[in-house]
Amino acid sequence: MIEIDGSVGEGGGQILRTSLALSMCTGQPFALNKIRAGRAKPGLMRQHLTCVNAAAEICGAEVQGAELNSQSLSFTPGQVRAGDYTFNVGTAGSCTLVLQTVWPALMLADEPSQLKLGGGTHNPMAPPFHFLERSYAPLLRKLGAEVELELRRLGFYPAGGGEIEVKIWPAGDRLQAFDLNERGARLEGYAECFAPALPRSVVRRELQQLGADLGWSDEQLREAASRQNEGPGNALLATLVYENVCEVVTGFGEKGVSAEQVARDVVREVRSYQVSDAALGPHLADQWALPLALAVWRRGGAASYTCTELTPHALTNFETIKLFLPVRFSTSGSGSRWSVSVKAR
Ligand code: AMP
Repeated sequence: MIEIDGSVGEGGGQILRTSLALSMCTGQPFALNKIRAGRAKPGLMRQHLTCVNAAAEICGAEVQGAELNSQSLSFTPGQVRAGDYTFNVGTAGSCTLVLQTVWPALMLADEPSQLKLGGGTHNPMAPPFHFLERSYAPLLRKLGAEVELELRRLGFYPAGGGEIEVKIWPAGDRLQAFDLNERGARLEGYAECFAPALPRSVVRRELQQLGADLGWSDEQLREAASRQNEGPGNALLATLVYENVCEVVTGFGEKGVSAEQVARDVVREVRSYQVSDAALGPHLADQWALPLALAVWRRGGAASYTCTELTPHALTNFETIKLFLPVRFSTSGSGSRWSVSVKAR
């Protein structure tokens, strides 16, 4: 039983999700205490409980402490079973975080899987659907893990109701770690504003402000279509496509925050990525560590990547991964260029 203290480092939900994912992949049981102790409302919230239940269903785990607000959990995994699954968060909590939890084990399974996920698709503090589709999934494919993602319906806080469908094919022995140290030439950049059930003026103001600040042309500024039964909600996305990587920066509209401010926040993040020449932005930098470490574990050797920031999220994720996999992380760098390398122990 691996004993894990959920209050260390970032002290958030990622410690739980990484533990669930790697427990499923390696068959090692774990006991997690002080779950999300670093957050204002600690313990398992609805979305975290959905992650636990989804992981348990896929691998027939024995679980104790899987209750709302629970601050400790023990998880003894069984055999991972690929197949068709439906998981609903039941609130506007992020369903992409449920996907992040079960994705690694299903990509290592023997047969393909198909997932239907319900909840929030674009939430602050979680990977938005378009980030997974454009930034994360292409890197997984390069690693040898084929996946297809489809957004069926947008889901925002507080209404929720989003739907995602995902097909995951087994990577078998194709999983091959690779270095990602340069982003390559810039190919294109564009912004999209999703604002279902909100006035069109919100869309125009956000895109105009972003376009003016970044010097982007009208063709780069897109009003995204939405369906009638979606929303209300607002996400402003800037997608930056490079030869070797695609970054999606997302900002969220909120009551009391002007459309211009939403745009300025996105612009600030875009600029902080653009002033650097490192390959990965802060979110990819923490999320890429797990699949890369899995590939290094399976095939041996080493792989590296560069990133614009080394956040507490990333450092905490490295520590959690090391509890389950015989890998070593080393980091170096300064300012806006950092380097991370993962080696088999
Ligand atoms: P936690 O705060 O521990 O629950 O973890 C949140 C996860 O969501 C981390 O992996 C973050 O990198 C990821 N995340 C948060 N915001 C974004 C964003 N705007 N784009 C992509 N990933 C995000």
